[in-house]
Formats: sequence, structure tokens, C-alpha cells
Amino acid sequence: MKVGQIKLVVGALVVTLLMGASPAVATEAPIIDFCAKKTSGKIRAITEGSCKTSERSLGASPIVRGETHPTELNPQFRARYEAAKAAAKKKGHNLAITSGYRSLERQEMLYQRAIKRHGSAEEASKWVLPPEKSNHPWGIAIDINYGVGGTKGKKAAAWLEKNGYQYGLCRRYENEWWHFEPMVTPGQKCPPMEPYAS
Ligand SMILES: [Zn+2]
Repeated sequence: MKVGQIKLVVGALVVTLLMGASPAVATEAPIIDFCAKKTSGKIRAITEGSCKTSERSLGASPIVRGETHPTELNPQFRARYEAAKAAAKKKGHNLAITSGYRSLERQEMLYQRAIKRHGSAEEASKWVLPPEKSNHPWGIAIDINYGVGGTKGKKAAAWLEKNGYQYGLCRRYENEWWHFEPMVTPGQKCPPMEPYAS
């Protein structure tokens, strides 16, 4: 083979490699859902089809307020919680929802009670938001292990605080170790905690 021919072959090889490299990145299919195994909470991402019957669909985005108030906890939020609960169980932690969906009436009652206890609307709001602000009546907030399980219950909540992001769940406030919301896409980092609700 002459030098000119070798150059040509090498040149062609480089072009082939370059062409092969970039389209692979460009055609990577977007993730359409995250599926969690019901038994273990193990998660896998899917780019087509839907989750198996042995899995729970966790969704592929943060879960936000709907257009109208629901009458129960958001089903996909519940699926995230159940997936996390199964994974926590494997690590010896028990998770329990002590308050999830609340009607607007119940939230108002709790808020009024908090005003009496804390002395002002402003102080009360750090612990119980008024109905129009709280995410509990929107079915996208849960309180876990609050008042149950003692130190063990708190440890389980700490596990969720650390690992919840894998299921799209985040602890939201520094003053409430028990309050979680479906704030992120499963696997994404949770935003920094807010000092308290307001
Ligand atoms: Zn709460």
C-alpha cells in the first residue's frame, strides 16, 4: 500500500468514527416513566411502553397541584410513597402516613387550632398553613411517623429524607421532619429545605 492510500484509509476511518459517535447521543430516547417493583421498591427507567403489573408507575416529573381540589391523595404520589415504604422496609424502617390528604374544612380547623395555640396567624402558619396555601388539601403532601414509633419512627423519617429523592419525594421544611412532598422527578436532587412554611 502506498503512503497516499494509507492516508486515505486512516482518514476514512476517522470520519467513520466521528459520524458514529454523535448520532448515538442525539437519538437517546427520553425517559417516559420510572417503575418501582412492588415487592422491593427497586426502580428502573423506561423509554417506551408502560410499567409491569408487578411494578408501580412513579411518573417522570414533579407532581404538582391539579386544577381542582381532589378528594384523596394523588395516586401517583401514593405510589411513590408505597415504593419508598417497600425499600425502607428492606432496610428495617417502618414508614406510616399519619396525615395525608385533608379536606379544606379540616385544614381550616387545624389552622384555627394552631392560631389559638401559637398566638398569631403568622406563627401558626409556620406549622399549619391556611387551606388555600397548604398542599395537604391538594393531595400532594404527607406527614409520616408523626407521633408514632418514637425514636425508631424518627429514624425511618430520616431514611426517607436521605433516600426519598430516588422516588421523587422531598422533605420540604427544616422545622418539620415529618412533612414530605413529591417535589422532584425520581432520581433528581431535592431543592434546599425551606426554614418553615409561610
Ligand atoms: Zn404536613
